[in-house]
Amino acid sequence: MFNNRLHMVKKLDNAQKSTQLEKNEVKIGLEIHVQLTALNTKLFCGCTADYRGREPNSFVCPVCLGLPGSLPVLNKRAVDLAMMVAIALNSQISPRMIFYRKNYFYVDMPKNFQISQYDKAGGIPLSIGGWVDFEVNGAVKRVRIIRLQLEEDPARLFYQGTIDSSPYTLVDYNRAGISLLEIVTEPEIKSADEARLFLQKLRSIIEHLGVSNGALQGSMRCDANISLHGGKRVEIKNISSFLEVKRALQYEIIRQKQLLRRKSTVEQETRHWDADRRITISLRTKETESDYRYFPEPDLVPVEISKTWINEIQSKLPELPDARKARLVKEFDIPEYDAGVLTSSKALADFFEECCHLYPDAKKISNWIMTDLTRYLKELGIEISEAKIKPEHFIDMLKLIDEGEISGKIAKKVLNEIVRTGESPREIIQKENLIKISDKAKILKIIDKVFEEFPKAVQDAKTDQNAINYLVGQVMNKTKGKADPGITNKLIRKKLAEHPTA
Ligand code: ZN
Ligand code: MN
Repeated sequence: MFNNRLHMVKKLDNAQKSTQLEKNEVKIGLEIHVQLTALNTKLFCGCTADYRGREPNSFVCPVCLGLPGSLPVLNKRAVDLAMMVAIALNSQISPRMIFYRKNYFYVDMPKNFQISQYDKAGGIPLSIGGWVDFEVNGAVKRVRIIRLQLEEDPARLFYQGTIDSSPYTLVDYNRAGISLLEIVTEPEIKSADEARLFLQKLRSIIEHLGVSNGALQGSMRCDANISLHGGKRVEIKNISSFLEVKRALQYEIIRQKQLLRRKSTVEQETRHWDADRRITISLRTKETESDYRYFPEPDLVPVEISKTWINEIQSKLPELPDARKARLVKEFDIPEYDAGVLTSSKALADFFEECCHLYPDAKKISNWIMTDLTRYLKELGIEISEAKIKPEHFIDMLKLIDEGEISGKIAKKVLNEIVRTGESPREIIQKENLIKISDKAKILKIIDKVFEEFPKAVQDAKTDQNAINYLVGQVMNKTKGKADPGITNKLIRKKLAEHPTA
């Protein structure tokens, strides 16, 4: 009787939990701003697009400063590059696109409007629709694209400390007018992890196209809108990297869940991601699209995009990650899983292929890249494109193992050092004295010492395999892992056989 009741309570509990879960269903839509870093000049003027590390406000002109009377001229190559992305994302390119003014009053845009595009009120962006397929836990997930649009980047703002407490704001207009491609997704992403995987795939596609270098700081930025089922949409701005996207979303999901739990309501608002404090803070509430008073940009003519133009771009499209993945499986006979990991970054796949031209065992290369190399890069917080390691060094390390000069264990140490310093493996093993000891006489001397020091283990070793392993371990200890384990093992067994029984 009591048992039954307990059972019922439990059942009820589970039912409540599942409706709660449904209620808390997470919906995330992303707006990704991609700088077309392959361009030399800005979107509407001839100022250089290479603004990083330059003196603030040194690459500006009347157009990107928005001075009265200046007129924008569209950079055709920006349209070419944006079309490449549209085609790669299966998005329908508009035969005639129009630029719109997005009006707002803020220091990062001295004209008080941004030249952008719009898909309502008569606006026609570069392209409509499309999708990105990416892998989540071994299954393919599709997130649909709403639109792609071209727009100008606002100026860069600097705060002293944080946005809400800084006594002043500094503005650098070098970034104002840089070509941005905005990619808007449907709110079909279900978790912070999915968002990260989606972005990784998108970035790999964009890098394979060669239109943007994702490793450059701020070259791919992301705004996210997020709602928990039944709740209002909250928009998070100022997420500067993909790692931050995951953190910001995780924070925001928990914040909204807690509000709902306390029976409080989530307000429709725009929040700012503060990467230093790792929180979102409210910027403005109840902002709607109509506040931007979108209307056609009268200083630019509509752009006609012919079928010929589209075909010309399409014919020049390079190999994309999915095709490359399939090719790597076929050409190098590696598992699909490996090929997926390697093609998740163009630089990583490039590194792998270069290594394969220098060494016959592709699976061994991929193993080392996916485990140890990836780990050391992560520890340094850098990407393979930023690391000093060259494919030649990586392969030399594998050859040193094959030739018996270093053990696998020492090789890990060497690889870590190559990643840090860019030195060749030979330099490192010489400098750090890491060459494997295979000289029997040398090893025997150390074994003698170990036998003296651990007589109990020596006794046990005659009947106990674990004790033998223990003795081998002691030799490894004394040689800092440099003794050849095979030879050591053999020599210990031989010595045990000769050793008089007590
Ligand atoms: Zn300019
Ligand atoms: Mn935008």
